[in-house]
Amino acid sequence: MQMGGVIECGVELTSLAEDVDAVALTLRHADGRIEHTSATWVVGADGAKSVVCHALGIAFEDDTEPDAYLLGDVRIEGASLDAHSIHIWWHDDDARADADDVPTFAELQDKIAQHGPPNARLSDPEWLSTFSHQRAAGGPHVFLAGDAAHIHSPAGGQGMNTGIQDAANLGWKLAYVLQGRGHRPSLLDSYEAERRPVARDIIDHAARLLHVGMAQHPFARLARDAAMRMLDHLPALQARLRTEMSETDVVYRDGPLVALGEVGRHASRGSAGTRALDIRWIDRSGEEQL
Ligand SMILES: Cc1cc2nc3c(=O)[nH]c(=O)nc-3n(C[C@H](O)[C@H](O)[C@H](O)COP(=O)(O)OP(=O)(O)OC[C@H]3O[C@@H](n4cnc5c(N)ncnc54)[C@H](O)[C@@H]3O)c2cc1C
Repeated sequence: MQMGGVIECGVELTSLAEDVDAVALTLRHADGRIEHTSATWVVGADGAKSVVCHALGIAFEDDTEPDAYLLGDVRIEGASLDAHSIHIWWHDDDARADADDVPTFAELQDKIAQHGPPNARLSDPEWLSTFSHQRAAGGPHVFLAGDAAHIHSPAGGQGMNTGIQDAANLGWKLAYVLQGRGHRPSLLDSYEAERRPVARDIIDHAARLLHVGMAQHPFARLARDAAMRMLDHLPALQARLRTEMSETDVVYRDGPLVALGEVGRHASRGSAGTRALDIRWIDRSGEEQL
């Protein structure tokens, strides 16, 4: 907002069509008013059921998950669970008749009653959903970000972080292009070149975690449980996991933009394409700042 943008809440994108130079959009306002407009650039950050993807016929590639998973954002009470930990209860269960049907709250409560800790009660469902798909790519004037671009199983716990990094990566590049700064094709093409491998790795990692979690073979389950117990006692491994989940180790060193640069390394801030380190500097009053 301070930079001049306007956020319009309660406005729904109902359709869009990509042309050579622009994108035609139809919007429905909260009062029912329909607006037809166009934009040079559109960022589809509209989640897993992205209207932008549907409108452009962009399909998810690599649907590697044959099974669907029930998801819910709910409050859990009645069992003493540490609020700062991830809790997992592994169990086999029967497949549902229609894997993609949104679960009911009663269905989730039933699963927790059967497989969760004793006396656990669910309440206050914010949303209920299923997960089954994987990833997609945008078009020349449409960029996808967040869950619209890549969905992975919640086992990875990184969807939000990945989406925020997408937005940060694309945001400054689009701003440069709109201000007429930089080389437009290099900047815009680098979004996909830099972010797609990151999304790919995270999806693969989440899929591996999910498959380990759902392992059928008894030996694989023993190994899984032993690894989880080990993780509980190895602070170094936990620290590594935290870095991976927060994605602060993502680098674009081999990306097309870094290749254009003349200086690969800045003495105080690390290599180009890596996370900038905190630096200390002296302001005009001579005071040291972090
Ligand atoms: C159980 C669970 C646990 C998770 N845990 C973690 C975690 O620990 N860490 C983590 O990083 N991630 C986690 N995630 C993933 C994370 O929640 C998602 O990746 C993230 O919310 C995706 O953000 P998004 O903005 O891309 O999409 P969304 O959050 O889905 O937002 C999309 C927005 O677009 C709007 N929209 C949709 N269609 C239209 C339209 N036609 N017109 C206008 N607006 C529209 C929607 O109203 C919504 O506001 C978890 C996910 C689940 C399911």
